[in-house]
Amino acid sequence: MYDILVNKKNKLNKNYKPNDLVKVSKKFSTKECYLRKKVNKAFTRLCKNALKSNLDLKAISCFRSYEYQKNLYINYIKEMGFTKASFCSAKPGCSEHQTGLAIDINYDNDSFDSTKESKWLINNAYKYGFILRYPKGKEYITGYKYEPWHYRYVGKRIARIMYKKKITLEEYLNKV
Ligand SMILES: [Zn+2]
Repeated sequence: MYDILVNKKNKLNKNYKPNDLVKVSKKFSTKECYLRKKVNKAFTRLCKNALKSNLDLKAISCFRSYEYQKNLYINYIKEMGFTKASFCSAKPGCSEHQTGLAIDINYDNDSFDSTKESKWLINNAYKYGFILRYPKGKEYITGYKYEPWHYRYVGKRIARIMYKKKITLEEYLNKV
């Protein structure tokens, strides 16, 4: 149930909203943020362990409703035009953030890539059940540019397999 595929070809219903959303601790978020219960637990553990190595991780965006994503997408199109917008923002119903399983961490721009936090996440997030959802070099499969800040909960078992095999969720589910 944590391996749900949401992308440009697999949409969520307009009314889909997880019924177990909980608020992320203020310590590990920059603003009010909600995740599914199990995901929040895993994220809290991840943040606490990262903190032991002096790594500061904070959620900046978690659950986003269909309506919220709709407005976001419209604004992106106004700002950068349709083609560019569709490569870096999801249409309403196509965003993983609507699942309550996705987290944007620290900054949502490419400068996050060179931080020690990002380097740690790349090699440790899977231990907590998270995967880097839009890796570099897999744009042709995911349909999105590299997003070093966007992590997705899939559960520990699947995350480990994906990490070891260096595959995306689309590849894991054989839905490329
Ligand atoms: Zn995101």
